[in-house]
Amino acid sequence: MAIKLYNFLPKKVEEFNPINAKSVGMYTCGPTVYDYVHIGNWRTFVFEDVLKRVLRFNDFDVTHVMNITDIDDKIIKKAADEGVDYKKITEKFEEAFFDDFEKLNIESEEDAPREVRRETNMFEQYPRATESIDAMIVLIQKLLEKGVAYKGDDGIYFSVEKFPNYGKLSGLSKGNLKKGARVNADLYDKESWADFALWKFPSSPKASGGQVKKEPSWPAPFGEGRPGWHIECSAMSMKALGETFDIHAGGVDLLFPHHENEIAQSEAATGKKFVNYWMEGEHLLVEGEKMSKSLNNIYTLADISEKGFDTLALRYLFLTAHYRSKLNFTWESLQGAGNALNNLREEVASWNEVEKEAWEGLPDFEKDFKNAINNDLDMPRAVAVMWDMVKSDNPTVRKHESILVMDKVLGLGLERIKKAELPEGAKELIEKREAVRKTGDFEESDNMRGELAKMGVEVEDTPQGPKWKVKQR
Ligand code: AMP
Ligand code: ZN
Repeated sequence: MAIKLYNFLPKKVEEFNPINAKSVGMYTCGPTVYDYVHIGNWRTFVFEDVLKRVLRFNDFDVTHVMNITDIDDKIIKKAADEGVDYKKITEKFEEAFFDDFEKLNIESEEDAPREVRRETNMFEQYPRATESIDAMIVLIQKLLEKGVAYKGDDGIYFSVEKFPNYGKLSGLSKGNLKKGARVNADLYDKESWADFALWKFPSSPKASGGQVKKEPSWPAPFGEGRPGWHIECSAMSMKALGETFDIHAGGVDLLFPHHENEIAQSEAATGKKFVNYWMEGEHLLVEGEKMSKSLNNIYTLADISEKGFDTLALRYLFLTAHYRSKLNFTWESLQGAGNALNNLREEVASWNEVEKEAWEGLPDFEKDFKNAINNDLDMPRAVAVMWDMVKSDNPTVRKHESILVMDKVLGLGLERIKKAELPEGAKELIEKREAVRKTGDFEESDNMRGELAKMGVEVEDTPQGPKWKVKQR
């Protein structure tokens, strides 16, 4: 069963065919570690996690690389404002970022425990920009030699006019090019083209608290300085995955200029196609608005937990929208997702334990589920299929097998759910209630149902006898 993915270049759904039959190389743009990652960023990181899980579900070996941007304008500004070394900032927020993986059940790509990786700087799957400067210098050198890059007063620039295919991803036309315009900032105008900085020479040292602070810089044959933001992704992705690789993903705001610039730099340097499938996840809105400091609506996972919500409810909420649709976050929608997740947990906990050898899952539901995820990651449909399966009238041991199969992609941590144990006295009360019910004393049996509810036990009367569920959490 083939996987179909929407490819932003050429903007249509295509059958996914990796370069190597059984393995996939995938690069995703990582966080800029100057602050806590917000739930909008997490929507994109969860989308990429789901993408990877879908590929693995289809038996591909996936090599996933994601960069850590630990040097850029925002980091330098924050370090200068606080009068500290920039590493003090990046180390703190990089650590916070990885801590949050578990809270959303995002699969980590590193084998070694994080403490070990930190001590040995073993960040192969999550390379840091500052540890990949050599590869960036080589790439910039190549672009200079080919004449597509030039030296300006304050840095090395990529000349967009020299790359005929510039604009192919974003669809912006050459008419948007401001002749001779140059940008030095990592983030710039979304509408117009300009030559962009590959390398920035240090600006004049700034005084901070009586001390003169020099910007971080590295030696290079074309002049000491630091990399621009875009060059790091080209250098790190090609170093890890080769000059042409399968999938590049990120949030849709990165389409222009970031991904456009990555294509230009990489293809101008190698003369080869850079990426075969471009995937861009849509944004998360908060109460209908863009997340921004001025609206005070930027939430982190810590905010979610502080308000008493389960962070996996956020993952569930993300799964209810297609990755190419905007998703509007409200606290009510998070509450709804949390309730649905708890219902699911209770349902699973009420099922019999699986006897692995003796039972198989439910192939028809699993097939529908796979059809949904392989149809450009149609997770809302996949979640609906999962619920149809859960609610179906099949032996619970088989349902249990199937839910674990589906959860490999959903990532809701359902394998951790153990069959619920009844609290003390509940079993006797359920039996007593059943006897009372048989005498037709429904008032008394309702009272007993109330008593059980107080113990966290929900009883449902079925033709096969009473069925119970224990409230999760
Ligand atoms: P940044 O650290 O700003 O480079 O962002 C990290 C990732 O989050 C990128 O892939 C962005 O495209 C993505 N992103 C930023 N804002 C949002 C948002 N509101 N919703 C979804 N993804 C976002
Ligand atoms: Zn990037």
